[in-house]
Amino acid sequence: LVSRKKQPEDTVITVKGVEFGGGRPILIAGPCSVESYEQVRSVAENHVKRGLRVLRGGAYKPRTSPYDFQGLGVEGLEILKRIGDEFNLVTISEIVNPADLELATRYIDVIQIGARNMQNFELLKAAGRINHPILLKRGLSATIEEFIYAAEYILSEGNKQVMLCERGIRTYEKATRNTLDISAVPLLKQETHLPVFVDVTHSTGRRDLLLPTAKAGLAVGADGVMIEVHPDPDVALSDAKQQVNIPQFNHILDELLASGLYK
Ligand code: PEP
Ligand code: MN
Repeated sequence: LVSRKKQPEDTVITVKGVEFGGGRPILIAGPCSVESYEQVRSVAENHVKRGLRVLRGGAYKPRTSPYDFQGLGVEGLEILKRIGDEFNLVTISEIVNPADLELATRYIDVIQIGARNMQNFELLKAAGRINHPILLKRGLSATIEEFIYAAEYILSEGNKQVMLCERGIRTYEKATRNTLDISAVPLLKQETHLPVFVDVTHSTGRRDLLLPTAKAGLAVGADGVMIEVHPDPDVALSDAKQQVNIPQFNHILDELLASGLYK
């Protein structure tokens, strides 16, 4: 069902007037974790000033260590709902438990399935049974074929509103957090009709590589880029090292606009 051979034309997913995969690149930005109303609000205010429409923020955080911040849960979803309504922003947040999907549809506009859950088949099937846009991230060690099959799981249950996100894979390279597989973008665009995004924060894990990799992603045909931005990254409860602050984020945005790759 995801195959370009079955459907030659691009899938376009429209949410609150924002077209994902509609030809104009989309910047998905926001903090790694939703930490407070004020924190998300600072980012949202900047979004409105800069004409951005899509806000991300994690409420359920799949952390490597059980002792790390696990997210605010429903309280985080409530914050996103309030700010999404207040600023007319499309909100994206990860859901990790099939039992939370139905509830999440009432709070957020796009449900993210994270890298660690790309092959959580019960979650994929449950996501296929709701009528809500899904952003599916590539697994840490997933091949392109496995990634495509994961998307197929969702579509096969009826939900056709699926977007893909390359977020870096595990290799022997230690200079970056993961290795951004840039060729995945044109490959996924050729093989499937789904919108394809590039997450430059989790793939590189390096602030100094966000801009060049964002440009690279857009240059090879990504439908948009995901970047994590936090009002004060030094005190962030997750991904403190690679989130950018608002001025740094605005600089990246200015440079992307100047490059002509992002409009
Ligand atoms: C995220 O986007 O918040 C996240 C945890 O990313 P990933 O699943 O790609 O690691
Ligand atoms: Mn993060």
